[in-house]
Amino acid sequence: MHSERQLIGQIRRLCGGGDAQVIRGIGDDCAVIRQSKGLLQLVTTDALVENIHFNLAWHPAGKLGRKAASVNISDIAAMAGTPRFAFLTLGLPTDTQSAWLDGFLQGFKEVLDEHGVLLLGGDTVKSVEALLFSVTVLGEVAEEAICFRSGARPGDLILASGTLGDAAAGLAVCKGRLADPQGRYIALVARHLDPRAKVELGRFLGGSRKVHAMLDSSDGLATDVAHLCEESGVGAEIFADRLPMSEALRELAERQGLDPFHLALSGGEDYQLLLTVAEEDAAALVEACRAQLGEELTFVGRIVGGRGVMLLQGGARRDISFQGYDHFKAQP
Ligand SMILES: [Mg+2]
Repeated sequence: MHSERQLIGQIRRLCGGGDAQVIRGIGDDCAVIRQSKGLLQLVTTDALVENIHFNLAWHPAGKLGRKAASVNISDIAAMAGTPRFAFLTLGLPTDTQSAWLDGFLQGFKEVLDEHGVLLLGGDTVKSVEALLFSVTVLGEVAEEAICFRSGARPGDLILASGTLGDAAAGLAVCKGRLADPQGRYIALVARHLDPRAKVELGRFLGGSRKVHAMLDSSDGLATDVAHLCEESGVGAEIFADRLPMSEALRELAERQGLDPFHLALSGGEDYQLLLTVAEEDAAALVEACRAQLGEELTFVGRIVGGRGVMLLQGGARRDISFQGYDHFKAQP
């Protein structure tokens, strides 16, 4: 079996051909198509498969519907766009309960409504065993505000919104790998079951015109930053002692004897925004996000020349490029 990167590379070679309207095809959070003068259309699509991306044993229907919408809208946020329209394709085993489906659709619609997104259609098909959802979201962004993955420059600071590793820790709690008798980790579990897309923050960052590159964190910092570096033709250094981690994550890691850095670097599904900005613009941008949106951005690393993502931890330096989630690799 190919690795996910090999497969995407193979498909990427089939893509393309020149078209004046296509600003970006494969390789970023969304495809970007010129819509009219100064306005770009964003297109993103993402599929969720039962027992791969979600498990019905712990994922309530409504929360799953919300997540199916949020993870797609997050890709629009990652390019500083506004989500507008959605399409939903459902692959349903014959034993799917209508009450379950009602809950899923209600959750899905809730998130669309929260972001002012209209559902325009989709498809329903029969599936043999597993539930499958494929969601496509269209959005738009002003040409001068769009943030690609490809604009990072050596010397830029890397900033991350919110905290990292919470969703991975929440998933571990759901899987029963980590005991949670007192419900201490409900906030972590919520980050796995019902992640929020950072649309307002993305738009604010794009509007600042200070962001050089941006993406959303879906596969763990090690892999997400590696994608950004690959598209920008640069390298990065990540400072382990600067990774933003929640109190709940630290507490859980300590109690369970886990490495919180591993969760933050490799866990995935946080759906935070990762961005790079010139060092001289960073402090003002961090302050503006805090003052105007109540959003915390944390300095986690630096863009450097060369290639690869290096983790600096306690005087040691090691290559962590693409050590996050790979959909086709056996997971430990
Ligand atoms: Mg993304």
